[in-house]
Amino acid sequence: MRKRMIAGNWKMNKTYSEGIVLAQGLADELKDGTGDVDVVVCPPAVDLKGVSEVIEQTSAPFALGAQNVYWEESGAYTGETAPNMLEAVGATYCVIGHSERRDYFGETDEDVNKKAKALMAHGIVPISCCGESLEVREAGKHVEFVVDQIKKDTEGLEITDPSKYVIAYEPIWAIGTGKTATADDAQEVCGAIRATLVEVFGEEIASGIRVLYGGSAKPENIAGFLEKEDVDGALVGGASLVAESFAAMVKSA
Ligand code: PEP
Repeated sequence: MRKRMIAGNWKMNKTYSEGIVLAQGLADELKDGTGDVDVVVCPPAVDLKGVSEVIEQTSAPFALGAQNVYWEESGAYTGETAPNMLEAVGATYCVIGHSERRDYFGETDEDVNKKAKALMAHGIVPISCCGESLEVREAGKHVEFVVDQIKKDTEGLEITDPSKYVIAYEPIWAIGTGKTATADDAQEVCGAIRATLVEVFGEEIASGIRVLYGGSAKPENIAGFLEKEDVDGALVGGASLVAESFAAMVKSA
């Protein structure tokens, strides 16, 4: 049985002090617990420490995630963040391969794979994103495209505990656009992802890996996605910036 997950990606929003206020608001909204749902909050890198302190001080029922990592341990990589640096500020999850990083910063499947390996070596859970562009979807090649991404992104990963690797299916045309995929669209691709995971890791591991949907998910539409067999939660962008909205999504999960 897979535990549901709701993860918030703040993207490049919230200064250090604004991040603290948002984390405190969320801690307050979720003070009665999250039921049987894993909740993760992914602020910008410079906010991680502040949010980590809020989690500690308020015993907040959510975990801390980063939005990116570099795969080397240390060295001359100006502007990058190593896995042990994330670990040191209390991050236990990290988003990798987000379509914005693929599109604007040239992140490749090979990079995503190296990042996953580096994170896992430090016990940090990757939330590995995949998803097709509108062009690919309109050509009817979305399943094929995502399956290929999954094969490349997971190549050589050693997974013994399936709760320690998470995939987020995020059709690019639905991210930040207000356009959502239908629950059936999400299930079609999430089901194909699960089948690919069975090929790569075998039935037992594949059936324990969480596959999230992301793309304009909000309180009003989340329930429909979660009814689907292979959708185990959501990666939420815009709606995670308002504590009440994000908490409402957690409560309906
Ligand atoms: C995201 O950034 O991962 C995302 C899904 O964004 P939004 O919810 O705003 O579409």
